[in-house]
Amino acid sequence: MADQFDLTVIGSGPGGYVCAIRAAQLGMKVAVVEKMPTLGGTCLNIGCIPSKALLHASELFEEAGHNFSHLGIDISAPQLNLAQMMVHKDETVAANVNGVAFLFKKNKITSFTGLGSIAGPGKVKVTSDKGEQIIESRNIVIATGSVPASLPGIEIDEERIVTSTGALALGAVPDRLLVIGAGVIGLELGSVWARLGSKVTVVEYLDRILPGMDSEVARQFQRILQKQGVEFKLSAKVKSIDKQDDGSLTVRIEPAQGGDMQIIDADVALVAIGRKAYTQGLGLESVGIVPDERGRIPVGPAYGTSAEYIYAIGDVIAGPMLAHKAEDEGIAVAEIIAGQHGHVNYGAMPSVVYTNPEIASVGRSEDELKAAGIDYKVGKFPFTANGRAKAQMATQGFVKILADVATDRVLGAHIIGKNASEMIEALTVLMEFSGSAEDLARTTAAHPTLSEAIREAALMCGDGAIHI
Ligand SMILES: Cc1cc2nc3c(=O)[nH]c(=O)nc-3n(C[C@H](O)[C@H](O)[C@H](O)COP(=O)(O)OP(=O)(O)OC[C@H]3O[C@@H](n4cnc5c(N)ncnc54)[C@H](O)[C@@H]3O)c2cc1C
Repeated sequence: MADQFDLTVIGSGPGGYVCAIRAAQLGMKVAVVEKMPTLGGTCLNIGCIPSKALLHASELFEEAGHNFSHLGIDISAPQLNLAQMMVHKDETVAANVNGVAFLFKKNKITSFTGLGSIAGPGKVKVTSDKGEQIIESRNIVIATGSVPASLPGIEIDEERIVTSTGALALGAVPDRLLVIGAGVIGLELGSVWARLGSKVTVVEYLDRILPGMDSEVARQFQRILQKQGVEFKLSAKVKSIDKQDDGSLTVRIEPAQGGDMQIIDADVALVAIGRKAYTQGLGLESVGIVPDERGRIPVGPAYGTSAEYIYAIGDVIAGPMLAHKAEDEGIAVAEIIAGQHGHVNYGAMPSVVYTNPEIASVGRSEDELKAAGIDYKVGKFPFTANGRAKAQMATQGFVKILADVATDRVLGAHIIGKNASEMIEALTVLMEFSGSAEDLARTTAAHPTLSEAIREAALMCGDGAIHI
């Protein structure tokens, strides 16, 4: 007889594993099917976690080379031990994926390793080298995530022409790295290798970097990256990449709107033009689910698909491809299946670029408010006027708060600066509670902290900041 479950989750990324844990906590008998040998999905194995391990290590490498002497720490020039840096990354990944396996045991979740496919209503087939197995399940959550998007005519080998996966595991620092795509992943991984010694050139089809982010923040960030040695070719598209016998790559680019071809030589090319929803081999047709034009699974407000008792969450559905968005949807759908009122507030969903400085934002950008014709005011405060930032040699960037003119309610916040990823949480909580700029301006910030810049920006929405 087939195993019987209340819920079977296909995919164990941040959407799937968090959903499984929440459902188990709510009393359901839960199974998870994962085709990879370890749990945790893209995020833990080849995404958020390994990239942050390399970003952290490479940032310290650069600091040791540049800032230490100013702080009175005299050391000889730091030597890169890339193999050990990769060991640190791999250990970080292992600790995290093992943590998920521990949580599955703790919550009595049954884990199946193999390709999961829907074999009709209430049935999931698990295919592995051990054969096929059918699981019976009242509810199914699809959390199969996404994979890197490809460029026509450009073949990925994960050694010289790589996706983010290959870029997280290069065996040597390339002299010249070409990054195709100036989105979050391209700029984060470009930063890693630039700090370790690569000459990085970023080619972007649009006329700006970080599409979708506040354009003032993006402009300032581009200037900072240029000072760090990163070169940008905007409004340009890659036409072809040829591998030469000497190991180099010849990359042909041309203006986005057509025009004269330009040749760039590189040693490694990173294709980082976005990610696409992944539903291959899932058997959606067996239950009549039809993906949209971008391959994503259409869902209603309660994450239900067109098939009864089958839900979908995370990167495989519409919305920003972020781990915490997938996690929040995982919790919400588990609660909905349990008869509760799970809900995700997409209006207060933070987003971060983990470079140096970091960029963090929540809510709407100034461009969006302008386009929507909303009457807003801007409170902006630079880190050059913040005491802690001076002490830490981290004066680049600013905090920008956008508030409604009529109600003072905060509509969006954007931080470019050190530790922006941690600071944005205060603004996310404020927005979750529909707080105003005055609420923030009247909340004490410990002195001296970088977070004082947030309060000062909030004061700028009213009578003015103190320290500027
Ligand atoms: C380099 C990089 C850095 C990133 N950094 C960040 C970051 O800092 N912050 C952030 O918020 N987001 C980041 N992301 C994005 C983040 O990783 C994704 O948004 C997140 O992993 C999506 O979670 P998910 O659960 O929807 O899918 P995934 O994490 O993609 O997990 C899907 C899982 O399903 C499995 N699967 C697929 N099909 C089947 C099947 N048929 N049967 C069984 N298993 C299947 C896959 O093997 C995978 O393990 C990063 C991504 C990359 C690539």
